[in-house]
Parts: sequence; structure tokens; C-alpha cells
Amino acid sequence: MTIAPVVPGSTIGILGGGQLGRMLALAAAQLGYRCHVYAPPGDNVAADVCAAMTEAAWDDEDALTRFAAVCDVVTYEFENVPVEPLGLLPRDKLAPGLAALEVAQDRLREKDFVEGLGGRPAPYCPVDDHDDLRVGINAIGLPGILKTRREGYDGKGQWRLETAADVAALDLSDGGYIYEGLVRFEAEFSVILVRGRDGSVRFWDSTRNIHQGGILATSTLPAGALVESQVAEARALAVQIARQLDYVGVLTCEFFAGASGPVFNEMAPRVHNSGHWTIEGAVTSQFANHIRAICGLPLGDTATRALPVTMRNLLGDDVADPFALLTDDAAQLHLYGKADARDGRKMGHLTRIG
Ligand code: AMP
Repeated sequence: MTIAPVVPGSTIGILGGGQLGRMLALAAAQLGYRCHVYAPPGDNVAADVCAAMTEAAWDDEDALTRFAAVCDVVTYEFENVPVEPLGLLPRDKLAPGLAALEVAQDRLREKDFVEGLGGRPAPYCPVDDHDDLRVGINAIGLPGILKTRREGYDGKGQWRLETAADVAALDLSDGGYIYEGLVRFEAEFSVILVRGRDGSVRFWDSTRNIHQGGILATSTLPAGALVESQVAEARALAVQIARQLDYVGVLTCEFFAGASGPVFNEMAPRVHNSGHWTIEGAVTSQFANHIRAICGLPLGDTATRALPVTMRNLLGDDVADPFALLTDDAAQLHLYGKADARDGRKMGHLTRIG
């Protein structure tokens, strides 16, 4: 990172054009920044609220270089940006740095890394073919979950395996999987932290997250006694991850609250869906603090304003009638401006505080 802060009025580059970029850009605008989105052609709803947009492929080195030249700092709203072309960009402009992206892009590398720091993921093993899977199942047992090492999200690229018949039916010819034991958890929660350029760290309260079909459905506070009793241990691991990666910005680590302590699930080197409640529910939102961190500004207070907190994701047709959603006059409606309300697609969210 450059030492001098990126002052308001400067241009922040955002790699990725979805709703996370959109909410980052709104927070950046409040602080007087301009945002420039870079994303491949598509429904890039972040661009609707940004000063500039470059629509180009992730590996278009010329377009990336031109983009970086007009940005004072470049961040991500999406962790699956290919790392290699980004290596051409000035390292001191990227926040967080490429190390975090490299680790988070590969589930196997991520779990090895976290285990190396003393963290406890579900038992796992790499799988490239049926022989590997047999070895994995012998060691870990059934049921379990087979996941693609790369590019899975919202439950995509995952297969729950219960029986030998489920295993036999799999086509593993592509290789590049990881097999995980199924964790019997009581609850899921995330640790969301922000780390400044000076190494200072702040946390938001950890919500209890409920997933349906692999997609986040709700995040709520209070998170309950079990989650609350495991947050300190989970935070200690998340801080170690951030320090080890020399991380700058918002980092999210997801955990299962099991009978014997927090089990690490995965990390996201970015703002996160389970932190959307912080827009209204915290003194400083995850989006505002991410912008502050990557620009080298002082971080804002992360305290929760009022309890209880409920954030509900709106998927697909849930947004078909915005008038009905607005009848709850105590809730804040966020719509992402996406054109196509496909089944299961994240279209917006609804937050209720206090
Ligand atoms: P992921 O994309 O890995 O976060 O998985 C999406 C969701 O699937 C998680 O939030 C859990 O609800 C569930 N899941 C994933 N891995 C496991 C596991 N090893 N044991 C139990 N549930 C899991």
C-alpha cells in the first residue's frame, strides 16, 4: 500500500459489478469518492451508481492496465477475479492484496492455510477422481459434501453425499474437488472484521445466519448464547488470518457453531451478505469501513445501534411487489436494480432494526 491516504475526491476502482460493488460505491460517494467499476459484460448493477465503468474480460490486460491507471486504489467485490492478470497492476494500488484473493479462491488452499494457523475446519481431503473420493470417504465417512475447489458460491458446485449410490452417480472427470465431512452444527455465524492500513482491527457483532438451499436467508441479532460463547475464539482466528495476509479492508470468516467450538467454513476477502444489516444497524457500516480502510482513513465505530436486528434476503420473485414490501414501515428495503429476477437470485434485502 502507498503510505499517503487516498483522499476524498479520488477514484476508487471496484473489480466486480454486483450488489456488493453497488453498496460499496454508495458508501464511497457519501465520503466524496468517485467509483469506477470493472467487470465483464453482464447485469452490472454497481455501474448504475458509479462515475465510470469499464466493461471488459477479466484477462483483458490492456483494459485492466488502463483501468488501474485512472484509479487511486483498486478493491474487489468478488473474489473470483483471476489473479494472474492482476499481477500486472501496481501492487500498492490493490487493497486487499493478492495473497488474500489467492487463498480464498481455492477451498483446499484456504483450509490448509487456516489449519496451519491452528483453525479447525471440517475434516477434508482433495479429490480429483473416484479413487481419491473413496479414500476420502474411508477416512471421513458419509454423509459429506463434495465441493468444487474453485468458483462455487451460494451452494452452487456442491453435492451432498449420503449413500454409495450418490457417490457412484458422480461424474468427476473435471477434477478439482474437495470432500468435506458434514458438520452437525447448532447454528452458523460469521465474523466480519475490518483491518486498517495501520493494522488496527474492529469487529461487528456476529449475527446468526440461516441458509436455505446453500443461500443465506436471514441474519439476526442477538445470535443466541451458543454463538455468543464461540465468537471470541472465532475472532481470534479471523484476526490471525488477516494479520498473516497483511489484510486491508473488510474480511469475512464463516463458522459453524458445533458442540465443541467454532468450526471454520470459509472466508471471503470482501464485504459480505451477512453484514448488510450494518448499513442501518451499526454506527459505521461494513461498506463505509471498507472504503475507509482501503483509503487509509480512520476507521469508524462498529457498534450495533439497537437490538434486535433482522436482515432478510429477497430472492427471485420476492421482489415482484415492492409496494407490499414497503408496507412494513419500520423496515428498510434495498433493491439491487437487477433486471432478471431468476429463481434464487439475490435481488434485494430487507433490514429491521430495534
Ligand atoms: P459454502 O458455500 O461452503 O459456505 O456452503 C453453503 C452452505 O452449505 C453453508 O453455509 C452450510 O449451510 C452448508 N454447508 C457447507 N459445508 C458444510 C459442511 N461441511 N457441513 C454442513 N453444512 C455445510
